[in-house]
Amino acid sequence: MTHTITLIPGDGTGPEIVEATRRAIEATGVRIEWDVQDIGVPAIAKYGTPFPEAALASIRRNKVGLKGPLTTELGTGFRSVNVALRKEFDLYANLRPAKTYPGVKAPMGNVDLVVVRENIEDLYAGIEFDLGTPQLETVREAIERGSGATIRKDAAISIKYISEFGSRRIVRFAFEYARSNGRKKVTAVHKANVMKFTDGLFLRVAREVASGYPEIEFEDRIVDNMCMQLVQKPELYDVLVLPNLYGDIVSDLVAGLVGGLGVAPGANIGEDGVAVFEAIHGSAPKYAGQNKMNPMALMLAGALMLRHIGEREAGDRLEQSIAAVVAMGRDVTYDLKPVRDDPTAVGTSQFADAVIRRLEVVHA
Ligand code: NAD
Repeated sequence: MTHTITLIPGDGTGPEIVEATRRAIEATGVRIEWDVQDIGVPAIAKYGTPFPEAALASIRRNKVGLKGPLTTELGTGFRSVNVALRKEFDLYANLRPAKTYPGVKAPMGNVDLVVVRENIEDLYAGIEFDLGTPQLETVREAIERGSGATIRKDAAISIKYISEFGSRRIVRFAFEYARSNGRKKVTAVHKANVMKFTDGLFLRVAREVASGYPEIEFEDRIVDNMCMQLVQKPELYDVLVLPNLYGDIVSDLVAGLVGGLGVAPGANIGEDGVAVFEAIHGSAPKYAGQNKMNPMALMLAGALMLRHIGEREAGDRLEQSIAAVVAMGRDVTYDLKPVRDDPTAVGTSQFADAVIRRLEVVHA
């Protein structure tokens, strides 16, 4: 079977790490036809819009995309491409696995966590009211009337909303992910002791959903305590599910625990299996064209993608091969060497060559 996948090279160092990742994915033996599409800065140059209809139609058609990083400073008048993609395809689940690999410098020894963040609701929905606007007055007056509270007149206001629908589908996503990936426990993270209605709703719905998955352990943690526990004993946790704001912060915390930006993959997933896989780092434009960046994070996103399209064994093999190259520490990029100016560091494409050689050994 041949899978058709939308490939977005991105900009800055994106095209280099996307090419390295494409080659590594193909070396697993899975047959893929790549539907290459431009989004962001390169699309503005070619089509006058960061978001050409052809690229959107491609994702809609193929349902699965692999995306290089996109520079988000597009100039005035353009909305952020990452936000636009999320909205266009209702990519409600942000998946961020974080794992320690021997050979990657990390402050913690033994981490293997998956953060599932709700992507649409909460304080990040972008509902804000600025000082000096008539809308702020209206909203402040309505809130004061409805709650009896007083809000200072020099306060700007952001709205936090959390729905039953949004909570149910993200918690269900976390349990389904746990089930199909052999994970043992889901922890819901919240601040329901203070935000009794919004976070309280999230926690109540999480408990209801959990009761449908008796084989998976369920527990909850208050977000501040969760942060401390993740730093002190991350090995106690498995899958975490969080509303948008806490998820944003905690997913970077766990990325830091396993070695930071260069090694962390991510995915944004919506209804009907629509999913866009990427590295969490940006386009690092100062290194563009230098064959210098570590493609490991996007390659790990590629492994997630292979599992998502049902090629689990190939995804596992790709991850094992990346881990083996990194553990040997020879054919790795500058950021994975003990000192950053190590002359034995290899480039992006040579790292990919090493992973591909390893894949061929595992395959043989
Ligand atoms: P960045 O992640 O691009 O780079 C910051 C620094 O981290 C780099 O200079 C480099 O030293 C290091 N680094 C990052 N990834 C690395 C890798 N794979 N290998 C080795 N070193 C690596 O962050 P930035 O400079 O703040 O952002 C650049 C652009 O990317 C901005 O326009 C930003 O908005 C955008 N961005 C896009 C995404 C995305 O598309 N998903 C994510 C984050 C940032």
